[in-house]
Amino acid sequence: MATKADAETLAMALQLSQTEWWAPERLRGQQLRQTEALLRHAATTVRFHRTRLSEIIGALPPGGLTMDVFRTLPIMTRTDIQDAGDALISRALPAGHGKPFPVRTSGSTGRPIEVLGTDITSLYAGAFTMRGHLWHGRDLSAKNVDIRTANLPAKMMRRARWSAMPGTGRSIRIDIALSIDEIFEQLMTEDPTYLQTYPNTLLGLVEHSLEVGRKPRSLREVRAFGEALEPDVRQIISQAWNVSVVENYSATEIGTIAHQCPESTNLHVQSEGVLVEILDETGNPCEPSQTGRVVLTVLHNFATPLIRYEIGDYATVGAPCVCGRGLPVLTRVMGRERNLLVYPDGRKRFPIIRNGGFEDIAPFRQWQVIQRTVENLELRLVMPRPLTDDEENRVRAFFLREFGHPFNIAIEYFDHLPRAANGKFEEFRSEVS
Ligand SMILES: [Zn+2]
Repeated sequence: MATKADAETLAMALQLSQTEWWAPERLRGQQLRQTEALLRHAATTVRFHRTRLSEIIGALPPGGLTMDVFRTLPIMTRTDIQDAGDALISRALPAGHGKPFPVRTSGSTGRPIEVLGTDITSLYAGAFTMRGHLWHGRDLSAKNVDIRTANLPAKMMRRARWSAMPGTGRSIRIDIALSIDEIFEQLMTEDPTYLQTYPNTLLGLVEHSLEVGRKPRSLREVRAFGEALEPDVRQIISQAWNVSVVENYSATEIGTIAHQCPESTNLHVQSEGVLVEILDETGNPCEPSQTGRVVLTVLHNFATPLIRYEIGDYATVGAPCVCGRGLPVLTRVMGRERNLLVYPDGRKRFPIIRNGGFEDIAPFRQWQVIQRTVENLELRLVMPRPLTDDEENRVRAFFLREFGHPFNIAIEYFDHLPRAANGKFEEFRSEVS
C-alpha cells in the first residue's frame, strides 16, 4: 500500500511530467516567482541572509524579481555554509514544511557540510528520482543495488526502496568502504537488474570483472552519480557489461540537480527544484558550449536557504535538446574526482572517510589526498596555521584507522588547492597505475 507521502510524491512526479515540456521562458517565470518567495523568507527569518538580501528585497515590488536583479545578489560558498552554522537556519519555517532533519555530506575527503532538509525537500527529491525512473523506462519491480556510504544498521541496508511506486522491488545497499573485489562478490550474489554508484567505483568493478572473467548476469543499466563521468569511462562500462550507463548530477546538500535525457547524453537541469547558473570568470552567464562555475539556488529549502551557492563544480552549457523538453541543458559536469586507493597487496578501495571526526582535529579549510606510490600518501592542507605536533599525530592515527594500512603520510601546506587542467577538483588522486 502506498503511504500518503508516496501518493504525494507520485502526484508531484505527474506534475513534473507536464512542466518539463514548458517553454524555457515559462519555466524561468515560475522559478523567479518561487525564488522571490524564498528570498523574502530568507531576508526576514535567516540571520546569514538578512544583511545580504535586505537592501534588494526592501526595494523589490511584489512579483518584481528579474534575472538581472537576481544576478546582483552575492554568491555564497561552501566555506560560508561551514562558517555560518546556525545563522543559516530559518527561525520561522512555514508550517507546511514539516519537521526539519539534518542532511550531512559524507563523501571521501574534504570538510563536510550540514544543512536541514524538510518534508518539502523530501517530496521534491522523491519526485525527481521518480522522473529519472520514468524517463529511462526502468522496471521498478526489479532489484536495485546502491554502492555508497553505508552507515546504517544491517537491517536498514536491506529494507530500502528505490521509488515511491507501489510494488517497487528491493534495493540493497553495498558498503562502498569494502574493497573492490569484496563489492564485486556481493554484486554477483545479489545479481541486480539496476545498479547505482560512482563512476570510478564502476570502472574499478568493470576492470576486476574483466580480470576474473565473470560479470553480473541480470544487470541492465547502471546509474552513475557523484563524480564526473568521462565519455571513455561510460563506453568501457557499457561495452564490458553490455549495459546502458545513465548519468545523474546530484549533491547531498542540494538533491538532484540534473538527470540524463532519455533521448541523448544531455543532462537536463531539474528546474522545478533548482535554479542553476553557469557563470564565466566575470560572473556573466555562459553561452552554449562554454564552461563555467556552477551556482545553485535551491528553490524549496526554506529551512536552510541556499541562494546563489557556488558548489565548486564546473559545467558546460548545452543548446536546447533534441527531445523538445524546455529544461535547460548541461552537456558535461566536471565535479569531484576520486580515484580508488590502491593497497600494497593490490586491493583497491574507494577512499572513503567515514564520519570519523577528521574535521574536529584542526581548523581545516580544504584538503586533498594524493597517492604517490602504494606506500606513500601526500596530504595537502589549506589552513589558517600549520598543525601542531599533537594534531599531526591525530591526523596520522586517523588515516591509519580509516584506511586500515600504515601508509606513509607527507603533510604539505597550500594557500589554495588547484584544480586539474580539465576543471575537476581531485579530492583523492592516485598516481599508482
Ligand atoms: Zn532532452
